[in-house]
Amino acid sequence: MLIAGNWKMYKGPAETAEFCLALRDEELGGVDVVVCPPYVSLAVAVQLLAGTEIAVAAQNVHWEDEGPYTGEISPPMLRELGVYGAIVGHSERRQLFGETDETVALRTRHALAAGLFVIACVGETAEERERGEMEEVLRRQVSVLDADDNLVVAYEPVWAIGTGKTATPEMAQEAHAFVKSLLDVPVLYGGSVKPDNAAELLGQQDVDGALVGGASLEVDSFTAICRAATRS
Ligand code: PEP
Repeated sequence: MLIAGNWKMYKGPAETAEFCLALRDEELGGVDVVVCPPYVSLAVAVQLLAGTEIAVAAQNVHWEDEGPYTGEISPPMLRELGVYGAIVGHSERRQLFGETDETVALRTRHALAAGLFVIACVGETAEERERGEMEEVLRRQVSVLDADDNLVVAYEPVWAIGTGKTATPEMAQEAHAFVKSLLDVPVLYGGSVKPDNAAELLGQQDVDGALVGGASLEVDSFTAICRAATRS
């Protein structure tokens, strides 16, 4: 069971230090835990979580080692910092920053080759679900990925991200089973996971963990989700 916290564009280095110092003292119940701070806060998170079981991942990563790519960060740069992995293809990147299945594939492949762990995000929009296209969308997004020991997929229905609308446990289970029929990797659920719905979602057979946005920003709610995962 893996619980990953996607902090999005929240918490600079000072707030990150405060959070990591508090998280270090928490009982996380033996689940695998990853926090994903913004780039500028990665170094302090790596430093303060060194020697703990909590890993640190970035929220994106480029596919070249270096070059004229203003605003991008490469896999070796993350490795040099002691970062464990990266999220790739988050729906906010796809919707707001022009990320495509092709660039998700490039980022994923190169990050894995560089020795990073990758959480690759997939998921349908509300319109796609209403049109009955969920499976078609997931098939397209997953088809660019290759199974790897260091790859997990996060199923994040776009309509459930940051909206407070959560997929029912049955909807999550159905989508996870479908993703796993396409690619043999662990699948995390993401989309308004909170302490009070985590146990039911994580209790589904094909739900192998959660990618948590909003509720990962407070130590109390994040650790409550980690503890719910322990019991699932
Ligand atoms: C996310 O950002 O990946 C996410 C799932 O956000 P939230 O939990 O806030 O819906």
